[in-house]
Amino acid sequence: MEDCIFCKIAHKEVESYIIEESDNFLVFLDIHPHSPGHSLLIPKTHYEKFEEVPENLGEEFLKIARRSVLLISKALNTKDFNLGINDGPFAGQAVKHAHFHIIPRFPNDKGGSMHSIVYNPPKEDLSTIYKRIIKVKNESQS
Ligand code: AMP
Ligand code: ZN
Repeated sequence: MEDCIFCKIAHKEVESYIIEESDNFLVFLDIHPHSPGHSLLIPKTHYEKFEEVPENLGEEFLKIARRSVLLISKALNTKDFNLGINDGPFAGQAVKHAHFHIIPRFPNDKGGSMHSIVYNPPKEDLSTIYKRIIKVKNESQS
């Protein structure tokens, strides 16, 4: 997609520090790292959101994600990571090309966990939320 920085990186039109590559994915160092080794895993094709990435790429995605985590782990001498996707603007997605953050963690790095991203507990109880989800699931299956 024109004017997408990650498409340009995928097509090697913009330089990046590529650490892993497969047929459909690329992993490179984040330009503003939140920790040493902070990397981004992207599909080479432009999809804005995670849910748009085709299901048949799941195995390849998992393989390259694991390979990247193990590589960074060895290179930077840590076993701990936060792994995740800012999926959409309310979730903090700035670059509109789906990407998976690989963020190595270190002792006393003063960071938080996934739980520190947001605290917006539901006003309804869990069973109400559960019923809403299962209703949609049942409707989509019938
Ligand atoms: P997000 O908020 O999940 O959309 O994060 C986008 C990430 O892309 C940020 O962490 C940026 O630092 C990173 N980023 C933006 N442009 C580049 C680039 N040219 N090379 C590497 N990382 C980039
Ligand atoms: Zn793109």
